[in-house]
Amino acid sequence: MQEIRLASRPSGWPTADNFELVELPTPEPGEGQVLIRNQFMSVDPYMRGRMNDVKSYVPPFPLGAALDGGAIGQVVASNSPGVPVGATVVHGLGWRDFAVTDAAKVRVIDPAAAPTLSAYLGLLGMTGLTAYVGLLDIAQFREGDTVFVSGAAGAVGSVVGQIAKLRGAKRVIGSAGSAGKVGHLVDDLGFDAAFNYKDAPVREQLRAAAPDGIDVYFDNVGGEHLEAAIGSLNKFGRVALCGAISQYNETSAPAAPRNLALAIGKELTLRGFIVGNHGKRMPEFVEEVGGWLRAGQISAPETVVEGLANAPEAFLGLMRGENTGKMVIKISE
Ligand code: NDP
Repeated sequence: MQEIRLASRPSGWPTADNFELVELPTPEPGEGQVLIRNQFMSVDPYMRGRMNDVKSYVPPFPLGAALDGGAIGQVVASNSPGVPVGATVVHGLGWRDFAVTDAAKVRVIDPAAAPTLSAYLGLLGMTGLTAYVGLLDIAQFREGDTVFVSGAAGAVGSVVGQIAKLRGAKRVIGSAGSAGKVGHLVDDLGFDAAFNYKDAPVREQLRAAAPDGIDVYFDNVGGEHLEAAIGSLNKFGRVALCGAISQYNETSAPAAPRNLALAIGKELTLRGFIVGNHGKRMPEFVEEVGGWLRAGQISAPETVVEGLANAPEAFLGLMRGENTGKMVIKISE
């Protein structure tokens, strides 16, 4: 088997040298365990934080050990009657082609219930739940709201915009980093307006796209985007602080937002959240989003990179904006 290890810790932008591909004998499952042949694995922005040796809501990746993260695979050997050979499972041991884990730590899924297996890492998985919880519970979205979402063509952002439309938003605006992504948001995902944040200041482009202001901002980016949103938010506006990807590879403190004091007079609510603490919403999420998926009302865009060895490059590409929708790595058929 093969696994990818953290070879060294980056300062600023990571490089391929921070990762190492290692060959090992394939392990045997112990009592109550299963051996999984991984088919897909996820790369996610939060993994950048785990490459640093700092305390956070998830512990850092240890040096010299395999990285981990969301994965889907098929059980090929089992010492657990509840998770038999042939079952398709979602679990937390990505970054390797075979994984041994306790049967209690995997979730059996129905591969036929989604358009692609990898949708269980995106629309029907962690990033979809993040969008659902962040928009509905954290930002307290209400029908008739005008919603702005940054990172809108990514895994979380693309689902936020679609849910807002399906739940009756007045207007949904997205920002993304290329003309192609902007076109995709409006033409394929039903956004009312979108702009490329690299073209002109976010503040100006947001004002033009939302002349009557916004009620909800779903923040995936932080910095200049958050400052622009605070400027455009209407009285009693709400912000879901989901991520701050513009800062993950920076080595100095961000300059923006400089206008936080506006939150007082506008009586804004800015609330952070970690999806891992909202698992109790999984049943409603699966029912509602799964229903939209079956009805063809929501789409699950993804960018698929082939081969475990290319996972580090895919992870770096994710932070450079090379993905549209969920970035996943196909490890085997
Ligand atoms: P995405 O699929 O959105 O991929 C990351 C995207 O970020 C890239 O495609 C790129 O798109 C964009 N990006 C990179 N650098 C910048 C920058 N400087 N300014 C603006 N955009 C940038 O990732 P996810 O959907 O998985 O994650 C989105 C956000 O949500 C991240 O901040 C992540 O950390 C956060 N998150 C938080 C969770 C929680 O529990 N709070 C759970 C899951 C995710 P572009 O081409 O548009 O620049």
